[in-house]
Amino acid sequence: METKQFKAESKRLLEMMINSIYSQREVFLRELISNSSDAIDKIYYKALTDDSLTFDKESYYIKVVSDKGNRTLTIKDTGIGMTKEELENNLGIIAKSGSLAFKKEQEIKDGHDIIGQFGVGFYAAFMVADVVTVISKALGSEKAYKWESHGAEGYTITPCEKEAVGTDIILKIKENTEDESFDEYLEEYRLKSIIKKYSDFIRYPIKMDAAIKEPKEGAENENKESTEEQTINSMVPIWRKNKSELTDEDYEKFYQEKHYGFDKPVKHIHINVDGTIRYNAILYIPENIPFDYYSKEYEKGLELYSNGVLIMNKCGDLLPDYFSFVKGMVDSEDLSLNISREMLQHDRQLKLIAKNISKKIRNELQSLMKNEREKYEQFYKSFGRQLKYGVYSDFGTHKEMLQDLLMFYSSKEKKLASLDEYISRMKDGQKYIYYAAGESHERIEKLPQTELLADKGYEILYFTEDIDEFAIKMLMTYKDKEFKSVSSGDLGIENEDEKVSESEEKEHKELFSSMKEILSGKVTDVRISKRLKSHPVCLTADGEVTIEMEKVLSSMPD
Ligand code: ADP
Ligand code: MG
Repeated sequence: METKQFKAESKRLLEMMINSIYSQREVFLRELISNSSDAIDKIYYKALTDDSLTFDKESYYIKVVSDKGNRTLTIKDTGIGMTKEELENNLGIIAKSGSLAFKKEQEIKDGHDIIGQFGVGFYAAFMVADVVTVISKALGSEKAYKWESHGAEGYTITPCEKEAVGTDIILKIKENTEDESFDEYLEEYRLKSIIKKYSDFIRYPIKMDAAIKEPKEGAENENKESTEEQTINSMVPIWRKNKSELTDEDYEKFYQEKHYGFDKPVKHIHINVDGTIRYNAILYIPENIPFDYYSKEYEKGLELYSNGVLIMNKCGDLLPDYFSFVKGMVDSEDLSLNISREMLQHDRQLKLIAKNISKKIRNELQSLMKNEREKYEQFYKSFGRQLKYGVYSDFGTHKEMLQDLLMFYSSKEKKLASLDEYISRMKDGQKYIYYAAGESHERIEKLPQTELLADKGYEILYFTEDIDEFAIKMLMTYKDKEFKSVSSGDLGIENEDEKVSESEEKEHKELFSSMKEILSGKVTDVRISKRLKSHPVCLTADGEVTIEMEKVLSSMPD
């Protein structure tokens, strides 16, 4: 039996690819620049084993040239180039990746810098161009060839002239249509910003001729136009640098350049992990709350890079909701990307990274609390509420992550105290962690219920935010100590002589039962209490839901 090969309707396939792989057109430039970077990398790797080749960094670069008059955009590189066969195979066969083959051939173990793998990125050029011309001269070859295509119709290859080894890719940018404009891909500022966005950390210089205006001599208000070759990309990703090489200013500069925020971050976290999964990350804990933080519009996430090329602007899966305030980026070589490089194929690696990152953030916050208390309090003022929401929304692990990071205002210290600090100050024989919920410190202090406890020298935590008591109910205990609201019936501190005797109960039985009748539906019981000092009466709640929680719940919209 003969096994037949599948055939493909290549014209349709190409059309589909051009129109449906990428969600954004601008990535065509990322794809072409990545190919150029790969082509230079190949010379670099060859030079490692071939003595006749030397790799001097100055000679290797990528250049982007826009020509508005002719409506062309050219991406030049001094990389390894392509022979006639390679042009035919790599650009003529869809999904054939010369770069992937190179990686395998050379058995490059740490050759993770080579970006190409799918053999489709090149065709992204047709999203913005009618005609794509590739002029290439391969390393070690005397001849140069021109590959040209108008898209789905096919391509031609003819011999041509080219002085230096390398490749020029010339895009004839599409004419504007009624509802689409392509002019932007010829504009210097737009091209620069696309390069900055996706290809800032390509390891070779990406150059452009930038127009500069100099004042004309003698004529004050007139400018002389000239151009100057500029390198657009930063090249060295700061996250690959050694922590010891970097200063606080470097990190702050990066924060600003990346527009993570306008504030000065409270803390930066630089992570280099080289274990089962490799990744680098730079994370920031901002000082101020972004204006939309506690709204639905706020989108959490970190920038995700694969090999220095931006994949996703905001990868939400990298951060749990309770750390949604964290800003920064992650770069990993071990991600399996989908074909458009916009998503991940499997999220196993991502999950591992996310878990790892969360632990690091937690540990950093904890050490901030211990060692830089003022900064921690500043942070807590902004984002403490989010941590409490995290505890509240727990179904298992958040508690462990977050409980040590919580702080509440302490009646004793008159400032924020952690639960650990509270416990360390507990009185001999004290069974519970006491708290009082109310609108403000002043109000809480005036509660009849707090009087007795304060009088006996017990420390009370003041809960002034709606979420506080709900979060604590989720926590239930901290280091085996139960939380106890001051408004609960049994505070666990009554001595024998403070207990209400049976005879006392009997004496007022009739009074209380008539009071209960009058208040029926409002209270469940009326009892004698010995915990009151200057107040005649107080309300207590013994159920799961305290009086303050009831207030919060009843104020919520249905
Ligand atoms: P990928 O980069 O995923 O391999 P592409 O469609 O982007 O897929 O490119 C296909 C192949 O064409 C590359 O693998 C490479 O062999 C070749 N190629 C593309 N651009 C260049 C270039 N500028 N210089 C040399 N070879 C290139
Ligand atoms: Mg590619």
